[in-house]
Amino acid sequence: MGKRWLGLLAAGLLAVGALVVPAAPAMAAPTFKVPFPCGQSWSGQTRTNHSPAYSIDFNRTDDLGDPVVASAPGTVDRVTDLGGTSYGKYVRISHAGGYHTYYAHLNGFNVSVGQAVGYGKVIGWVGSTGGSTGPHLHYEQRLNGADIQVRFNGALALYWGTKSYSSDNGCSSSSGSGTVNTSGTALTVRSGPGTGYAAVGTVADGTRVTIQCQTSGTSVTGTYGTSTIWDRIGSGRFIADAYVYTGYDGYIPGLPRC
Ligand SMILES: [Zn+2]
Repeated sequence: MGKRWLGLLAAGLLAVGALVVPAAPAMAAPTFKVPFPCGQSWSGQTRTNHSPAYSIDFNRTDDLGDPVVASAPGTVDRVTDLGGTSYGKYVRISHAGGYHTYYAHLNGFNVSVGQAVGYGKVIGWVGSTGGSTGPHLHYEQRLNGADIQVRFNGALALYWGTKSYSSDNGCSSSSGSGTVNTSGTALTVRSGPGTGYAAVGTVADGTRVTIQCQTSGTSVTGTYGTSTIWDRIGSGRFIADAYVYTGYDGYIPGLPRC
């Protein structure tokens, strides 16, 4: 859980007269990353005559057959071949908060509908299928179906023009860290990722913890909102991420899933 929640909480407590008006609930955007493996650099082009307008076409030298990876964790909800028109072979991934990403003109698929994917997962390969005149990846981010301006790690892509984007997608990191924030009380450590698991100890408010991996478990509402993410801080030791400041609203990028 991260900084953005603090801002939302602060904004939500703005008083109007004597009334404290809660802000409308807002789901933070996933942290989208460049859709290519860690360390690669790709040239991304935006242009006003592109359809839809905010799409990015990615290229690099000899890119036919290069792997394309998931931009953020989510669930594959389309693996479709439109033949010689439009997107050709394309994958769509559904992300939290009503976001989707599209990966088009692929040479082939490496995922199927319903599959959960994380950062760095190869979903297919760069191709020139559909209405394409040469190998490239056509990439889109959408919110509730509407084409939106692309952001990587929260930073807006170049509109309009061509820019080099370097990927930190799926870069390995052996562990993450966070700080427990409970506003006073000790946080219960569980033997598994959920409130139904046995309590095996506590960590004091303000404790800096090393996070070995993260996984999904029971939903917990804590200091940083409501989350199903649980952090493993040792063998058979899990704490609810909703009480841990990690600098990220969702999963910590690059950290393994348990
Ligand atoms: Zn395109």
